[in-house]
Amino acid sequence: MKTFSKRLYFLKELLFPVNCAACGAALLNGAEAGTGLCEECAGMFPVNFEKRCSVCGRPLISELDICMDCRKSDGNAYDSMTLLYPYIGVEQQVLKAYKFGRHRSLARFFSEKIMSALGLLPCVKFSPLEVPWIPVPPRAGKLKTAGWDQVELIAKTLERLYHVPVLRRLKRLASKSQKELGKAERMTNLSGRIICSGKAPEEAVLLDDVFTTGATMNACAGALKSAGAKMVHGVCLFYD
Ligand SMILES: [Zn+2]
Ligand SMILES: [Zn+2]
Repeated sequence: MKTFSKRLYFLKELLFPVNCAACGAALLNGAEAGTGLCEECAGMFPVNFEKRCSVCGRPLISELDICMDCRKSDGNAYDSMTLLYPYIGVEQQVLKAYKFGRHRSLARFFSEKIMSALGLLPCVKFSPLEVPWIPVPPRAGKLKTAGWDQVELIAKTLERLYHVPVLRRLKRLASKSQKELGKAERMTNLSGRIICSGKAPEEAVLLDDVFTTGATMNACAGALKSAGAKMVHGVCLFYD
């Protein structure tokens, strides 16, 4: 799609909202159209406030403080991680609808969910309005093919609706897509490929949509720490 037709598509979505991203029902009012979900489906996203792993933020099944994966890992460049939803079922469907650009209004829904979860989850170790948020940059070339940046749009929405301070400091150099790689390769694929422009703030919050192995978060947190950050947190909407 050319940039012009993409813009036209975005405008069309604003003027004639598409159906619910989850069940496909017609969106009945401005509030529903504003978030891309019908009222019923929007209510299907409760955040699990059970105990979380103190390292990666995933919900814990055992009584221990740290999950099995994290006990096996060599440690992370980030200091805390907040993850909201498992990437399955309706959650997966909704993120896909957002990524493929059919429901950009979901950025508003995601922002609301992030802010309410941060207020409730005990694993959150920063004040969302005081620490600068840094969106995880898209893969080099992705912006050109997709025409928009899905994480940046959520950052922008958090900035606009909640006055979250956003800093754009990270750039991603060309590398293979993380999706095609195994866990070990994912860790090395990004090494040196994420760059912090200028000095990093002392404390920062990284924002991304999906957390899989944590390789991207680690590479971003590492880049910020090399540029002077002392404490780096992360927030991801979904975890795989
Ligand atoms: Zn629905
Ligand atoms: Zn963990």
